[in-house]
Amino acid sequence: MDDPHPPLPPLREVIARYGLGARKALGQHFLLDLNLTGRIARSAPSLTKGTVIEVGPGPGGLTRALLNEGAERVIAVEKDRRCLDALTELAAAYPDRLEVVEGDALTLALEQLGETPRQIVSNLPYNISTALLIGWLKALAENPAAFATLTLMFQKEVAERLTAAPGSRHYGRLTVITQWLCDVRTLFDVPPRAFTPPPKVTSSVVSLEPREEPLAAVTLKSLERVTAAAFGQRRKMLRQSLKSLFEDAVETIEELGLTPTARAEQLSVVDFCKLAQRLDQNRTA
Ligand code: SAM
Repeated sequence: MDDPHPPLPPLREVIARYGLGARKALGQHFLLDLNLTGRIARSAPSLTKGTVIEVGPGPGGLTRALLNEGAERVIAVEKDRRCLDALTELAAAYPDRLEVVEGDALTLALEQLGETPRQIVSNLPYNISTALLIGWLKALAENPAAFATLTLMFQKEVAERLTAAPGSRHYGRLTVITQWLCDVRTLFDVPPRAFTPPPKVTSSVVSLEPREEPLAAVTLKSLERVTAAAFGQRRKMLRQSLKSLFEDAVETIEELGLTPTARAEQLSVVDFCKLAQRLDQNRTA
């Protein structure tokens, strides 16, 4: 789509003018390639509806792409005050479409910002990417409509954990909790050289589509307890690793149609839900 807006200075100029040298502590690796930011923005479905929330706009490369691709309402949450003037300039070029919020995305309730449907599109700061995701999954566990979609750039290693299948070494607690709530797909990889400065590892853009209802009606708390116990001792058999959760672990596991000698990584997400359901039942019994 052509940009009908006043020409904005190139991102490198913005970075130089506002002194936005990348800070490692804030996980700053900027995207300056318009083809790439455009591709990420186009990966997000229906940008024109509701609110697009971007965590960590930095100098605003992805933010420009989101606006350029037709997002009508973008709320960009940035912790680094140095970026605010550059973002204010961007907001002025797209009147009424970009709101810049100075703050820490770890403590802000993003699921309450702007109008529904809300979607998050972000090149996440890697040092806090899983902490951010866990917060958003908690919001989804409480309300499956909290976010309509999430299109997020992670380190490839995290993307592998999110999309892993049973039997994979990447399969773990984060996989189970994420797939319980969302359909997850890796869309494409991004090499380190695409960022300024380049990170040490490859990155992946991941699409998370929240299910209308979670895979099973269980509490997040029980699913967390079951996966923590099972994967905390992932080399042990279930009859051993789940001992602390069930009085008669072997009997419970068999009653649920599972194998007491199996190991955590052999169970499907639905299997973990069965165990969590039993834990929920025991708690209310
Ligand atoms: N979106 C920009 C891009 O793609 O070029 C920058 C992405 S950079 C990987 C991560 C951004 O998140 C940085 O701008 C950083 O300042 C910001 N950030 C780091 N921690 C944050 C936090 N807790 N809350 C909000 N933003 C944060």
